[in-house]
Amino acid sequence: MERRLDFMWVEVGGVCNLRCAHCYSDSGPGVERTRDLAIQTILARLGEAHELGLRAIQFIGGEPLSYPYLAEAIRAAVTRGLDVEVFTNATLLDEWWLDLLERERIRLACSVYSSDPLVHDRITNHHGSHESTMAAIRAAARRGIRTRIAVIEVDQNMGTTGDTVGWLRAQGFAEVRVDRRRKVGRGRDCQPDATNDDPLDGLCGRCHLSRLALTPFGVFPCVFARSHKVGEPSDSLHDVLDGSQLREFSAAMERRCDQGNNANCGPDACPPDSSGCSPDVPCSPDNTCGPDEGWPCGPDSKFVSASAMRDDRNDRTHAVLGIS
Ligand code: SF4
Repeated sequence: MERRLDFMWVEVGGVCNLRCAHCYSDSGPGVERTRDLAIQTILARLGEAHELGLRAIQFIGGEPLSYPYLAEAIRAAVTRGLDVEVFTNATLLDEWWLDLLERERIRLACSVYSSDPLVHDRITNHHGSHESTMAAIRAAARRGIRTRIAVIEVDQNMGTTGDTVGWLRAQGFAEVRVDRRRKVGRGRDCQPDATNDDPLDGLCGRCHLSRLALTPFGVFPCVFARSHKVGEPSDSLHDVLDGSQLREFSAAMERRCDQGNNANCGPDACPPDSSGCSPDVPCSPDNTCGPDEGWPCGPDSKFVSASAMRDDRNDRTHAVLGIS
């Protein structure tokens, strides 16, 4: 019997204007555009996913708003009647995007680490990111664009996440939750469990059920389950869902949950709308900005210009949508 697909992450690529220390996808300004998913691949998989019963989709990255074909991908998802969410750092969210998101009823998700800009900016490794993100999500809220916020507990904000949640709720953001660390990407080497190499640790236990993550590196049961590739981006999702790799992963995860090895196994740990998952995982501060990562310290050093990203995106998306 063919399995259903309810929810799909589409990780468009690894380019991002920030470089968070804990980024699950190893994203940043230095990542090449050649690492992006081709729009043709996204559209082909979207068509198959729709046939398989897909209800909801989340575009994620990297920074998805910097992906030149995001508007085209959103349009394809909306045309199929999908519930669409964009997980973004919101720093590139300008009036053009707000118009599109409001018109198409797209939901947003983002991470805010602290009410203190200095703390947030230390985590994103980018001076001014807190101000940009907050201004953008406030603008989205004024337009009625539904926005979900994750407050990730990391070393830099340890003990203050509750206050941050309260600070955000007091501003009218109702969908705010504290999220936890996953050992993926740059988060893999972070404390406190850097010595534990079990790749299933940190997964919620439901990542094999009716959901898949399409990424430039392959298809996975979840964006965080990167050690368990179950297909290539070029593979038909019908074949992926029926394939032995996904079946083996499911069996391993079920055994693990049956044995009580995963405290997060449960019916509500990762619902199809992804509200239990976030791309952000905490990290220790010693990885945020140091010569060992080959990354210069300083607020603006080596960061990709947001306006350059916008120009590139606008040229392409305007062409796609026939806007001159
Ligand atoms: S966590 Fe998100 S905002 Fe931060 S570097 Fe990764 S993709 Fe960019």
